[in-house]
Amino acid sequence: MSHTDQIVANLKKQIEASKTEIKVEEIGTVIAVGDGIARMTGLEKCQAQEMLEFPGGIKGLALNLEEETVGAIILGDFKAIKEGDTVKRTGQIMSVPVGEALIGRVVNALGEPVDGLGELKTSKKYPLERVASGVMSREPVSVPMQTGIKAIDAMTPVGRGQRELIIGDRQTGKTSIAIDTILNQKGQNMTCVYVAIGQKESKVARIVARLKELGAMDYTIVVTAGASEPAPMSYLAPYSGVAMAEYFADKGQDVLIVYDDLTKQAWAYREMSLLLRRPPGREAYPGDVFYLHSRLLERSCRLNTKYGGGSITALPIIETQAGDVSAYIPTNVISITDGQIYLESDLFYKGVRPAINVGLSVSRVGGAAQTKPMKKVAGTLKLSLAQFRELEAFAQFSSDLDPETKKQIDRGRRFTELLKQPQYSPMLVEEQVVSIYAASQGLLDAENVENVRGVEEKLLQFMRSTKSVLLETIREGKWDDKVVEDLKLALDEFKKQ
Ligand code: ATP
Ligand code: MG
Repeated sequence: MSHTDQIVANLKKQIEASKTEIKVEEIGTVIAVGDGIARMTGLEKCQAQEMLEFPGGIKGLALNLEEETVGAIILGDFKAIKEGDTVKRTGQIMSVPVGEALIGRVVNALGEPVDGLGELKTSKKYPLERVASGVMSREPVSVPMQTGIKAIDAMTPVGRGQRELIIGDRQTGKTSIAIDTILNQKGQNMTCVYVAIGQKESKVARIVARLKELGAMDYTIVVTAGASEPAPMSYLAPYSGVAMAEYFADKGQDVLIVYDDLTKQAWAYREMSLLLRRPPGREAYPGDVFYLHSRLLERSCRLNTKYGGGSITALPIIETQAGDVSAYIPTNVISITDGQIYLESDLFYKGVRPAINVGLSVSRVGGAAQTKPMKKVAGTLKLSLAQFRELEAFAQFSSDLDPETKKQIDRGRRFTELLKQPQYSPMLVEEQVVSIYAASQGLLDAENVENVRGVEEKLLQFMRSTKSVLLETIREGKWDDKVVEDLKLALDEFKKQ
């Protein structure tokens, strides 16, 4: 290198160095602080959703940009912050760690581990807020996401990439449905994200222990914002969860995400908004509470092959008060999702568990994702149950029924019994098909209602031990005259035993 080249290189280096030196940090002053919220002056160029830094490294998130002041939520110990403290802009949008290293871990809303298993071994980060993928990158739902719950897979099927709401009063088995669905994803090439929002820490710990015990933590990430944590954490947790899910979907994989529950996120957002002095609207929620959930749920998707073919299936949960689905938040989320599973306290106490009201539950797109055998047998099931519901109410008033009506009611009672299912015992799709088909063929008509599930278990054991090839065929989605004939013969054989 010649002498002049050397000088030029040196000069260039110096210019580069001086450039970084003139990077200005914008600094503001805290003018009010309390309840996890701070208001500041002086941060003129601050962007919405930008991370801020308070003294002692406490992070904040700018939410309200007003003419004179900026309102931010404090992500940490807000009691340590005083009026007059300085606050720095970071120029960064909030993001969380993502990657395979998170699988099997329990993290908080900021993506920090809370399970005592050490640091996350990942350097990848994804932004919390991202514009959902557009129409051109999407594909219709066509692959089933088996929940393993008969009543759902048969009558309100969920496809990969769908958003199916689970809605019901408190203690009606909402969480159980979501957890059973996660358990059923074992070996299904699905990564699961369970977001616990505003739940008691002890409850979440029990769920994690259960998932671990049953081997589901091998493919599951748990994000938790506990009831004792400040409201901003409950507000952020669902976005953190979906950012972690997007990492896998971008790689072309399938992800299932559960938000348990969005009612508590809405409460947290209402609390924050009131503290930030946003004008309250209906039920004191701020005007943009619809956007809170729509921008979250819009990020569930089924991408087409050009974009990797990944998917994010969402099971948001909403808690209602006294079964009122017409309250503000329930109607909002019902309108955003592709269907709902409606749980009822009455059914729950009557012992119909899962307490799914099959008349009010719908799935707007999942039918396209059902396997052929399931679609065929579920058709008769739905019809029988619909007729049963109509006749049952009517039959309460009259004692002498004509034989045809009586038969339909009896069949309906047995179907209802058949759809009961205990917790933590998801069922394979081919076995679901066999039980429902058997019932629709009248196999259970002669049995007492109490014996229905016992007979079902015996039938399935018989099928597993002697008809495994037929089960395999049904699993693969084949359903033609030959399969039906074989199944009929198998049922006859079982009856003779
Ligand atoms: P919360 O409103 O407190 O969140 P939840 O609606 O999520 O309640 P779960 O916690 O899932 O309801 O269930 C409530 C209770 O019902 C639990 O004790 C659970 O074990 C029981 N339960 C749920 N599903 C079933 C089932 N299929 N069979 C028997 N018991 C069940
Ligand atoms: Mg629950």
